[in-house]
Amino acid sequence: MSLGGQFDNTDRERVREAADIVRVIGEHIALKPKGREYVGLCPFHDDHSPSMGVVPHKQIYKCFSCGASGDVFTFVQRFLKMDFREALEYLAEKFQIKLAPQKSFAFRGAGPDGGPDGGEAPSVSRGDLFTASQAAAEFFRLILNHPEHGSAARGIIARRGISPEMQELFMLGASPARWDGLLLTLRNKGLSEQAFVDAALLKRRDDGSGSYDAFRNRVMFPIQDKAGRIVAFGARKIDEQDEPKYLNSAESRIFKKSGTLYGLTQASRAIQRERTALITEGYMDTIACHQGGFSNAVATLGTALTPEHAAELRRICETVILVFDGDQAGLRASDRAVEVFFSQPIDVRICTLASVTDAKDPDELLKREDGPETFRKALAASVDLLEYRFSRIRSRLEGAGTSALAKAIEDELATLVDLGLSELTPVRQALIIRRLAELARVDESVIRSAIPMGRGARPRRVPTGNDQPVTRTVLAAGALSAREHALGCILCDGSLWLAVPDYVKPAMAADHREEAIAVVAGAIARVAAEGRSPDLRTIMGEVAEDTAAVEAAVNLSQRVDEVTEHKPERLKAHWLECIRTIEKDLAIAHVRDPEEAQERPKVDVQTLQRQIQAVRARGPDSRVFPRRG
Ligand SMILES: [Zn+2]
Repeated sequence: MSLGGQFDNTDRERVREAADIVRVIGEHIALKPKGREYVGLCPFHDDHSPSMGVVPHKQIYKCFSCGASGDVFTFVQRFLKMDFREALEYLAEKFQIKLAPQKSFAFRGAGPDGGPDGGEAPSVSRGDLFTASQAAAEFFRLILNHPEHGSAARGIIARRGISPEMQELFMLGASPARWDGLLLTLRNKGLSEQAFVDAALLKRRDDGSGSYDAFRNRVMFPIQDKAGRIVAFGARKIDEQDEPKYLNSAESRIFKKSGTLYGLTQASRAIQRERTALITEGYMDTIACHQGGFSNAVATLGTALTPEHAAELRRICETVILVFDGDQAGLRASDRAVEVFFSQPIDVRICTLASVTDAKDPDELLKREDGPETFRKALAASVDLLEYRFSRIRSRLEGAGTSALAKAIEDELATLVDLGLSELTPVRQALIIRRLAELARVDESVIRSAIPMGRGARPRRVPTGNDQPVTRTVLAAGALSAREHALGCILCDGSLWLAVPDYVKPAMAADHREEAIAVVAGAIARVAAEGRSPDLRTIMGEVAEDTAAVEAAVNLSQRVDEVTEHKPERLKAHWLECIRTIEKDLAIAHVRDPEEAQERPKVDVQTLQRQIQAVRARGPDSRVFPRRG
């Protein structure tokens, strides 16, 4: 692994200085102040109560449940799935820091003769796909503004009443009515054709004779990932003869339909502010909502809601309102929504437009003069998901007799139990049981008796989209050795390194159970040898490109903070205990096996003799630290 070599340290430190971790994390997770810190739902495990703490004065985060931790770079790398360079550029742009020019990150172009495939590397990186998508968006935008080639698309946009502000906010564009518009442009610019193929913007001809544009003669809607990067496009037909009406990019290495919400970049702040997200059925509805003042609207991409969507939304809001045009769509979607959301700590409401207006969708409604007012009423009249389902059961079985109704309600309860009713947190379970009793018109005890105790309910794993190895949980909550505690102490107060007896120093660096800890220990020794203080901040900078090492450093220092409660005198006392235990271990190793001890870094024999005597005088003491494992 490279340590500080590949990227300019000053760039990194300037970005770290400017990038406020609370603001960066707060864009993706609702954070609440708690003392000097902030807490929120951890995005790295299936978190149901806020386990993630963000510590502004240290510029770190840490999950007390799964141990995910680190600094602003680690968070961006893991949450937004970027490598270090991408994270650095992403944060630099966000906080307006100009980076030193990078030579190797240039986009691979066509060959020197300008030929389509000349000199092309066999594989393209994810970064190349992002660059291709961005370049395509710019091209589509130019076409939309072209006097001749963009006129039909502008006509559609005008007829749909999309304002210039929305056109700008959602970066609308147009693809030209030919097979090679984008292709010729990227060739002219010397961009990699393969990157455009991989980003699903070009298609290879079956006979292998080159590529052609994937989108022709359509209004283009760029689709962004949660970092705001363009990853795909939605496309609406311009010519009435064309089919289908709407078309999405095929999935690619940077675009997964099931994990993407259209408009989330534009809606994220409003969703957090209002603690509510509106889910519409398409791009046009989402844009119409934003234009009508409902800027907390997003859309799924022609799919039903997925657990990934649910995981995304529950971190930033408490209520999700599914907006449907008609009853049938609403009914189908409610089946899916109950599956996806039931076990999640989020309230889901169903809003059916047909109940308040003859407008066929939000787009049509919001273009009317009283549209926003009617839409507001529709939202206010939205029905809680469970209530919606029970009222559907009642109306379906109207006149069918009480036993049929009782059976249907039993089935519904069984479904909910199966969906994880027994696994909800006690508070939420109690709330839902009360609600169900009301809706089903039975006693709460009837519902409680229907919940199996540790049986029946299938375990549900909600993907967080960020599955990481679990070794960090040991550092976060497991037993730490004396040496690990000592490293944590030094990270809390770098000057403690000066108090490490020289003969103990080599032992601090050797034989750690995790590579990440060894990297941290090595960085501490190196930084100290250069005469700098090896505190957490410096060490995080030193190992910045190694997310596991950043995580280990944060965990070690936080564990010591937990023991010492940030009190300098307790830190000193803890430190002394650690060093004594390490010395004792060394002494015991020497007594047991002088040969092996000889192989260890040079140890002063007289000091060791003193240690041995001290150990014998003190007797074994394993209260503070478990023995090294
Ligand atoms: Zn966690």
